[in-house]
Formats: sequence, C-alpha cells, structure tokens
Amino acid sequence: MKLVTFSSGTEQRVGVVDAERGVVRDVTDLLPAGTTVLGLIEGWAQLGPLLERGATGQPEQPLDGVRLLAPIPLPRRDIFCVGKNYREHVLEFGRSGYDQPDRSETMPEHPVVFSKATTSVTGPFDDIESHPQVTGELDYEAELGVIIGRGGRGISREQAFEHVWGYTIVDDFTARDLQSKHKQWTIGKGLDTHCPMGPYAVSADEVPDVTALVVESHVNGEPRQSAPVKDLIFDIPELIAVISAGITLLPGDIIATGTPAGVGIGFDPPKFMRTGDVIEISITGLGAQRNRIA
Ligand code: MG
Repeated sequence: MKLVTFSSGTEQRVGVVDAERGVVRDVTDLLPAGTTVLGLIEGWAQLGPLLERGATGQPEQPLDGVRLLAPIPLPRRDIFCVGKNYREHVLEFGRSGYDQPDRSETMPEHPVVFSKATTSVTGPFDDIESHPQVTGELDYEAELGVIIGRGGRGISREQAFEHVWGYTIVDDFTARDLQSKHKQWTIGKGLDTHCPMGPYAVSADEVPDVTALVVESHVNGEPRQSAPVKDLIFDIPELIAVISAGITLLPGDIIATGTPAGVGIGFDPPKFMRTGDVIEISITGLGAQRNRIA
C-alpha cells in the first residue's frame, strides 16, 4: 500500500495512492479521529486490514490535484541517517576534502550514524530553502529511507525485516560548508527544509526484494546518481541491529540508509546547487520527488 499525507485547505488528510492510475483515495474518515500516517503505521496490525477492506470504497481524486506533504510530516524524533555507506561515495567524499576531521578514503569499519532534525522534513515537491545567511554550499543526497513498524531493542539481523514497516525516499540534503566546519553534522544536515521526504510511504509487502531497488538522482535533468540498494556497505539488517543494540527503535522511526556516488562534492570542481536548480530523486517502485532550490 502507498500511503500519503496531503493537504486539503488547512487540514491534513491521509490517503492511499494508486500510482498506476494516478489517483488518491482519502481514507481519513475510515480511521479513528486524528490518525496520522505515523499513527497508522504504529497501529498497522489493526488499521492495515481496515484500510485493505475499506479504501477502495472511498472517493478518489487525481493525485496531481492535491498538495502532497511528506508522508510523515512530523516524525516523532530525529531521523537516523547513515554516512559513507556506498563504496564509491566513500571514495568521492574522501577525495573532496570535506570528510573532517579525518579526511579518509578508507571504508568505515562500523556504520557512521548521525541524525537530521524533525524540523528539516519537507514535502516531496516543496521548495528547498537556500539559507544564504548560513551556507553557500548546498548539496543533495538521494537515499532509501527505511520506516520501522514494530519497535524494539536488541533486534537481531535475522529478525530485522520483521520490524520494517516499509520504505520511502529521503533527500539527505546537506550544507557542505557547515558539515565540514562544525565537525559534527547536526547543523550541516539539519537546516529547515533540508529533508525532502516521499512522495509515498510504501508498505514492505510491495517490495519483495529491497536490495534490487535502484536509487537515482538528476539535477536539472542531468543524471547524477544511480546505484542499487545491494551496493550498501552495511545492509538494512545490519543497520537495524547496530542502531537497536542499545537504542530502542520506535514505530515510525526512519533510517536513511546512505547515498551513492555522484553528489555535488564528488565533482572537481564541486557542483553545488543554486537558486532555481531542480533536484529529482527516484527509487524503483517508490515514486519520485522533485524539489526546486528557492
Ligand atoms: Mg546521507
């Protein structure tokens, strides 16, 4: 199932999308009052079957006639992210000189985990703020986002997929000068609107083999990134096992799994994003997002 959050007037609505037909069904009234996509994922064992039975009976409207927000517009906490998780990207990042303080092209021995502020989340077709007062080096990072369904601590590799609700697209948009200058990445990765998400939250039953999905990006129509998820250095079960070893994962948590080679700083000289540029990211079966730099 493909879930969306969309706006109708001032209200947020929950929808189920038929992507092939380009329509969305408003299922808000089928759900307990106030249920968001986050609440739906948390209560999926009960609410999922309810949607399976009832969604097709709800009125549909063209998808391009509504404003899509991020599927989870306000995550319950910061988004987990993984740095340096595709081999070729580790090399380009090392060569760029932005990998402070330990400029390095060697592969990480353990996942590099950091987070993005909840307030950085924005819609799949919204403008990205350029923040000219604080940064002059805007860059994109196309990533597969894993959405946790059942929470837990100490989740084993073998049981990891039992805790995955589904997937979405995340742009781990980055202010490179801030990422480099402040050593820790909280500021450089967390500026407002620097986490475009969506368009859909896609349940795992629609993704028989997540490693076969291909993550791609284009800037102003020019191909930049393309790699299958199977190229991850630390795969999804490993990431879930490592993060949950001592931190309880919660329903609705999002793990952005890392970006392939082809980001702006991978070029010499770097190709930073400018006002008016358009970044498009797609992943097999998960749709595509398109954001313009304001
Ligand atoms: Mg990233």
